[in-house]
Amino acid sequence: MTHAIEVALGLITEDLVAGGVPLPRIEPSTWQDWEPSESVMLFGADGSGTGVWLDLGLSQAHGLAHLADQVQDWAVEELARLGRPTNWPVCAAHPTNHPLRTLVEDGRAVWACPAGGTAPLPIGEVSSGEKRPSDR
Ligand SMILES: [Zn+2]
Repeated sequence: MTHAIEVALGLITEDLVAGGVPLPRIEPSTWQDWEPSESVMLFGADGSGTGVWLDLGLSQAHGLAHLADQVQDWAVEELARLGRPTNWPVCAAHPTNHPLRTLVEDGRAVWACPAGGTAPLPIGEVSSGEKRPSDR
């Protein structure tokens, strides 16, 4: 069964698109035998595969944040392989210092500046909340 992880990956994919990250090819997989969980493989442009998983024992928000964290690790490696800057999602306040980090805040999974420099963006809504540094 991979329904829940597909829904969660759909949200995270929105943020990959917003950040201009090439999308992985996603294949269902049962590599993760933790119960209850769902897992898939992400395949990059060079065909290398990375397993990511959704822990169904967590709340929806914590599960989504945990999954987004793994997709972020994948994206960083994929961008590095492509010779591109690896700071995804870009922190609007500190675009050259660090990427945003996943966090659960008020029951929502968000991307947040680790230094508290910008308002957290709900995972899946990076594009709608995107601000240029001059807009702050
Ligand atoms: Zn920041």
